Amino acid sequence: MINFDLSQELREQILSLSKHQLDPFYAQPSKTQQKPHLNPLAIKAIAKQFSFEKANDPEEVVNAVIQNLKDYTVHTTHSGYLGLFNPRANYLSILADLITAYINPQLAAWSHAAYANEIERLVIQEFGNKFGYQQDEIDGTFCTGGAESNLTAILCALQYYFPAYPEEGILALPKRPIIYCSSESHHSILKAAKTVGLGKASVKSIPVEGNNGINLQLLKQVIQADRKQGNQPFMVIGTAGTTGTGIIDNLSGIASLCKTFKLWFHVDAAYGGAIIVTKHKDLLKGIEQSDSITLDLHKWFSIPMGASLFLTSKTSILQKTFQVSTAYMPADGDQVATIDPYIHSIQWSRRFIGLKIYLPLAVFGWKGYAEIIAHQFNMGIVLKNLLHENGWVIINSSPLPVLCFSHPVLLKKAQSFTTELVERVNSTGETWLSTYPINNHLTIRACITNYNTKKVDLEKIVHLLNVQILQKAPFS
Ligand SMILES: *Cc1c(COP(=O)(O)O)cnc(C)c1O
Repeated sequence: MINFDLSQELREQILSLSKHQLDPFYAQPSKTQQKPHLNPLAIKAIAKQFSFEKANDPEEVVNAVIQNLKDYTVHTTHSGYLGLFNPRANYLSILADLITAYINPQLAAWSHAAYANEIERLVIQEFGNKFGYQQDEIDGTFCTGGAESNLTAILCALQYYFPAYPEEGILALPKRPIIYCSSESHHSILKAAKTVGLGKASVKSIPVEGNNGINLQLLKQVIQADRKQGNQPFMVIGTAGTTGTGIIDNLSGIASLCKTFKLWFHVDAAYGGAIIVTKHKDLLKGIEQSDSITLDLHKWFSIPMGASLFLTSKTSILQKTFQVSTAYMPADGDQVATIDPYIHSIQWSRRFIGLKIYLPLAVFGWKGYAEIIAHQFNMGIVLKNLLHENGWVIINSSPLPVLCFSHPVLLKKAQSFTTELVERVNSTGETWLSTYPINNHLTIRACITNYNTKKVDLEKIVHLLNVQILQKAPFS
């Protein structure tokens, strides 16, 4: 039989080979994109490089895979990457993924992975405390990402307001349940509504009031109108840090509205929730009154995908929502003291996600995280000033390091000029910027999302942008 483990010698050889390929790249990838001009057909061919009809040399395969990943990936680990909320992963969290894969604990049942499960419980408690939930009112679960956390929130809210839902399903509900969120909220909410069987018609998107987030007055009117029309409002989702422009909704305002109308208050803090560990935490005021929170860890907490938290202040809701009984799962001795994640969340077999956040927290503490997040917060201010000094116009106004900007020259031109300018700047490999439309104008969007981004990186990027405007290169 083949040696599926490989020999110890070969294991060491390919591990050290991988390390030598990866470590210098981790220290600083030379470019955000090694090969920015992608040809899908050529890449399809490269993906087929090793035939499954025969055995291949492990060293050759590993080498090629690492090289191809370097060549055909946007490198979010690069300090010039100012793209979406994709971070540079800190080293301890990378190691955590490796350790997890080696030991492969099965977290579905508590008794199969007691220590790992208790690590996750601890982290959930600690984050619940940070967000201001009462000590004895904290529950939650680790998810693969914000999308799963938001889906979990909707399932919990449905269970809470429509106790017949888990048994009888959506068809048994006498009225259409309605979820409210802002027009800038994340599309994973729509996907979740489709997934649970409510459909997009059950999600009402309320316009934002400029930079102040969801229009509360309008929200109130729509809820009242829905009640009159025979719909059943049951949930409001506030966003703390919208994906496009970094808006934080008025969370206290939503909280009191939810109290008045008896609605589930969920906060999608996938990105912005991280500032809870900094001195800027007051920006999230009102989040402590929420019924549940989505917090992505693979965004501002700088750990590899996929990792997020779903937190709730309704301690029995997860159990009620996901309870099933099986004959084949191991039963735990003490049902009260322990929680089996498989009856507490969407997933069944479950990876040890929590180690990725536990290791850096145990080594650097909250103080370490406060420092790296505050640094990025400050780099946002540095970038804002640099852009301003160089004649760029900031269009959005977020307290978070998300900047949407344009230039007087671009304001007069068609959108395609901005798209082309961004493509040119990105193809230098020194940075990676995105675009985002605000009031019918396509802006350039930059988000500080890498703890290694320094002022020199930002100066270089603003210079690259200036060169494009001065040369009017995209306009010729
Ligand atoms: C990123 C994001 C999501 C989706 O999270 P994933 O981790 O990508 O699944 C949801 N909401 C907001 C506000 C986000 O920024």
